[in-house]
Amino acid sequence: MMKAVCKTCPIHCELDEGQVGACHARVNREGHVTAENYGRITGFALDPVEKKPFARWHGGSFLLSVGSYGCNLHCPFCQNYDISQGGESAVPWREITPAELVEHALELRTRGNIGIAYTYNEPLVGWEFVRDCAQLAHEAGLLNAVVSNGAIDPGLFANLLPLIDAINIDLKAFNADFYRSCGMPGGLDTVKANIEAAVAYPTCHVEVTTLFVGGMSSAEDVLAAGTWLTELDRSIPYHISQYHPAYKWDAPPVPNSTLRAIIEDLQRKLDTVVGGNMF
Ligand code: SF4
Repeated sequence: MMKAVCKTCPIHCELDEGQVGACHARVNREGHVTAENYGRITGFALDPVEKKPFARWHGGSFLLSVGSYGCNLHCPFCQNYDISQGGESAVPWREITPAELVEHALELRTRGNIGIAYTYNEPLVGWEFVRDCAQLAHEAGLLNAVVSNGAIDPGLFANLLPLIDAINIDLKAFNADFYRSCGMPGGLDTVKANIEAAVAYPTCHVEVTTLFVGGMSSAEDVLAAGTWLTELDRSIPYHISQYHPAYKWDAPPVPNSTLRAIIEDLQRKLDTVVGGNMF
């Protein structure tokens, strides 16, 4: 029985042979931790870039969006819990190779497609698939966009940055306790380090999203996050997204008027602040 430690994210799961990690996506096979969800697609759609969301990147274009299953955070309010909080037997999937995915993306160019978005679940718990697809996509003249929680090993993230043309990183909150509630004590420091690295990387466009969770998020905390983003670069687009009760969390959303007031405060700090899911 060869134990192995996964270094993909700060949880550092120690796995017995055949054991799957806390993310439901990675497994110890003969002493090496690999992505069991490699090439396993649960979602596949041509989405507007604005839906990812990107507010200041190739507006009016589309991205072939794909996701698998699994996530290394376990937020009690997860909005995509059906694919993120279960493993291979929890959700239907089909297999696709990187070459097939790129071929589909090229075929969709006639419908405004500019590349591939790795999204829906947490794509970087299966970073090998993102890497392999993104390399082929670049060779084919396509762009790569990632929608991530940003909670992966900073060294690994740095290796992926040359392949990522745009990233939207989910900043859950600006306090460590919130990340502890999502199953990753210390996660905030990792996410901040990766946002800083992406902002500093010259070919990567960066946007940031915070889901405003009723009963968990606070205006003060979101404003603190906005102040920190301003110090990095006030042109970083910041999305404040309304949540709906899901998974283990049933607190009502705050009124849209409350979110609008927070967005107006943030707009005094940052150039682009966008509300999402506000009906
Ligand atoms: S990526 Fe998955 S298996 Fe690896 S340390 Fe994180 S939760 Fe554990």
